[in-house]
Amino acid sequence: MSNYSLETLAIHAGQDPEAMTGAVTVPIFQTSTYAQEGLGKPRQGYEYSRTDNPTRKAYEQCFAALEGARFGIAFASGMAATNNCMYLLNSGDEVLVSDDVYGGTFRFFTKVMSKFGVRAHFVNTSDLAAVEKHLNPNIKLVWIESPTNPLLKLTDIAAVCRLAKSHGALVVVDNTFMSPAFQRPLELGADIVMHSATKYLGGHSDLVGGVLATNSEEINQQMRFHQNAVGAIPGPFDCWLALRGLKTLAVRMQAHARNAQAIAQFLEAHPAVRKVIYPGLASHPQHALAQKQMHGFGGMISFEIKGGLEEAKTLVESTHLFLLAESLGGVESLIELPAIMTHASIPAQRRHEMGIADGLIRISVGIENMDDLKADLGQALAKAVSGSLV
Ligand SMILES: *Cc1c(COP(=O)(O)O)cnc(C)c1O
Repeated sequence: MSNYSLETLAIHAGQDPEAMTGAVTVPIFQTSTYAQEGLGKPRQGYEYSRTDNPTRKAYEQCFAALEGARFGIAFASGMAATNNCMYLLNSGDEVLVSDDVYGGTFRFFTKVMSKFGVRAHFVNTSDLAAVEKHLNPNIKLVWIESPTNPLLKLTDIAAVCRLAKSHGALVVVDNTFMSPAFQRPLELGADIVMHSATKYLGGHSDLVGGVLATNSEEINQQMRFHQNAVGAIPGPFDCWLALRGLKTLAVRMQAHARNAQAIAQFLEAHPAVRKVIYPGLASHPQHALAQKQMHGFGGMISFEIKGGLEEAKTLVESTHLFLLAESLGGVESLIELPAIMTHASIPAQRRHEMGIADGLIRISVGIENMDDLKADLGQALAKAVSGSLV
């Protein structure tokens, strides 16, 4: 299978016709247990659904194929996948984490892992000198998110992997924002890829899930052991939904990126907009790195409206197609205000230091018609700044 391209793997990897009936769609094996032929003789290797389930296996195999990985492991949420990686560590180990990571990841390291003697150093991983400076012998794992959220800062994944490797640390890349259609961290030297499958992999805002992929037999064995030992596995129906989502990943990502590029350019030219952040714009400070390590620029855009919080509030409450909601990566367009919604738990002072202005707006561009989306943002921008600035 591995010599096929991503579009083909999405439809076929792990998805042979079902043995009994030839069903072309992998069935939902909604069962907790499996009758055995005799003592210690399971029929097809299945014994209990926390350990393994055919629907989950198909999903895991398909996902692994898309990441170009030998192994894929599914979890009940992105955070459960993140948590599983931590069982590779021991108390006393330290981790180096991108400073602009997903809020839940920040909370997990600072409020949960800290209780178990695992200390996190938050470092701007876009700055290789800073990464090198902070890599001490106790750091056993480096956690990268690229692009970050909501500032869409990039990390040179290959370069950080080289640095980490020379210090004996594992590298995990949270690849949620790009999906394997646009970024394959294992090919850049990462040891493990993590995703919130809730976002682009599922793609339809109808499930919560997480996945890990690796090429290392040893890491896979440990992570599989912990998947079974700790639990937090997805049920068969969620696996089926996620697998159904994967089938259209390639076409969806192309549509997200096409729309996002057009909207980023529209916003950049709009008089009510101060600044647009999108890796596909020549104005993005790391546009060259984006072209080098990504195969597409994604569907996420952040921008600042002229004025401030009040204008931003009016804008996000005035769109009709862009729904006011947290989360991202679904077929429908979403809009949100990080300072008040996704990043409200970060103290204002630190938020401002990081560059998250009160008027910063984040959009997840869906796959609706591009002109309809532009018109929707256009009318909301006009409303937000009416009379005052334009
Ligand atoms: C949503 C998200 C997570 C957490 O995933 P859940 O599925 O919500 O547990 C982790 N990382 C990123 C980048 C995310 O967007």
